[in-house]
Amino acid sequence: MTERSVPRTIAILDQRPVGLALPQSVFQPNAQVKPTGLLVDARGRPLRDLRISVTDRCNFRCSYCMPKETFGKDYPYLPHTSLLTFEEITRLAQQFVRHGVQKIRLTGGEPLLRKNIEVLVAQLAALRTPDAKPLDLTLTTNGALLARKAPALKSAGLQRVTVSLDGLDDAVFRRMNDVDFPVADVLAGLHAARAAGLGPIKVNMVVKRGINDHEILPMARYFKGSGMVLRFIEYMDVGATNGWRMDEVLPSREVVQLIHSQLPLVPLDPAVPGETAERWGYAGSNGQYDPAAGEIGVISSVTQAFCGDCNRARLSTEGQLYLCLFASQGYDLKALLRSSASEADLSAALAHLWSARSDRYSELRGTLAPDQNASAQRRVEMSYIGG
Ligand code: SAM
Ligand code: SF4
Ligand code: SF4
Repeated sequence: MTERSVPRTIAILDQRPVGLALPQSVFQPNAQVKPTGLLVDARGRPLRDLRISVTDRCNFRCSYCMPKETFGKDYPYLPHTSLLTFEEITRLAQQFVRHGVQKIRLTGGEPLLRKNIEVLVAQLAALRTPDAKPLDLTLTTNGALLARKAPALKSAGLQRVTVSLDGLDDAVFRRMNDVDFPVADVLAGLHAARAAGLGPIKVNMVVKRGINDHEILPMARYFKGSGMVLRFIEYMDVGATNGWRMDEVLPSREVVQLIHSQLPLVPLDPAVPGETAERWGYAGSNGQYDPAAGEIGVISSVTQAFCGDCNRARLSTEGQLYLCLFASQGYDLKALLRSSASEADLSAALAHLWSARSDRYSELRGTLAPDQNASAQRRVEMSYIGG
């Protein structure tokens, strides 16, 4: 074979971590734990919030999440048989709820790409907490398919949506999503979601210094008084492919100062304990919070760690349980589901894993030596476990 006839293939590394086998202690007879809804981890943090990634695919290529260089057309996405089925997701979710989860967020990848997602929404909407309350059921989306799907999602029982939007300027937005998707279509999705009653709507803007920070004020002006809550998220070092650099992070403190200089703000109390966003309300002419003008939120995942209150578990697309967004491995719940595990076995596994949890990556971020941080090379991608 001549050199010219050698097929040129580009090796695509499958960067997904192999799931951790569940510790043997999970299977001991005394491992059976009666769910009380009051489960806490090794740092006393309750289990309240479950994020479920329903697909690892996306129709956008945001550079901070799924950069084109890695997530090209040859990227080995999960085959359908590797994904948890809706029945498997619901079965697990039910056990999470029995242990204290009150809020479920569907995410991805882009969750609206998962076929018949509204069927899963209906199954999850039927779950009840131990005190017979419905869940706070929500979904995070890039909004591209929202105009089409909003009514069906609402009828299936979805309560609200969070829409990601990184700018209003069409050229900036097309660059950020890197698939030339027009901003007008996301705005149409937002308005369709509102018309369908999927509110209160939150809008998430990831801010990258020098890339879209000039969109902060236009975004604040657009959403002020709209009834939608705009939240600014610090660009995070999640995953291993986005080439994160600290100098591209715009600290939330600067976002608040910038907005306050033009649209005066007053601090607001957290709405619920463990809330990730710090709330700021627009002040009226009397200098007090004006509810009609609304509020913004800032999520300072990098500059102000909130691990102390972190009550979130994440279920990956293929059924691995991640106890922290920055974990490099998850626990293989799919294997348990596809064995002959009973509901009590599933419940015991969750209780064991959560009780042993002591993760607090964001608190330690600044203190880790480069060699301690070697696991960053293997850190799981956000599109795989969801934001
Ligand atoms: N595709 C959906 C979307 O974009 O809303 C849901 C999945 S996406 C992974 C969930 C959230 O994570 C989005 O709001 C996105 O902006 C945020 N996100 C992704 N990568 C991030 C990063 N490196 N830093 C901060 N936020 C990020
Ligand atoms: Fe897709 Fe959401 Fe990631 Fe953007 S942030 S690439 S829309 S999964
Ligand atoms: Fe929670 Fe981990 Fe984020 Fe800390 S770093 S807030 S423990 S997900």
